[in-house]
Amino acid sequence: MIRIKEDRCDFCGTCVSVCPVDCIELRETVIKIDEKTCTDCKLCVYVCPIETLEFVDE
Ligand code: SF4
Ligand code: SF4
Repeated sequence: MIRIKEDRCDFCGTCVSVCPVDCIELRETVIKIDEKTCTDCKLCVYVCPIETLEFVDE
């Protein structure tokens, strides 16, 4: 699964635009990932400019 360090996120939306299954929800200052839809492709982790997202093997 992908963990979000919410205190780091600056809500730029870059991760939202690359997610192939559109499972990242960003509303102003709230960001969430729908874990049921997420495929753990890690694209969002690679594109986040400030390393806010991390893959956690659970
Ligand atoms: S790991 Fe892939 S599917 Fe999951 S939120 Fe990130 S970009 Fe979307
Ligand atoms: S790319 Fe990173 S900083 Fe930008 S909205 Fe996504 S998690 Fe937040």
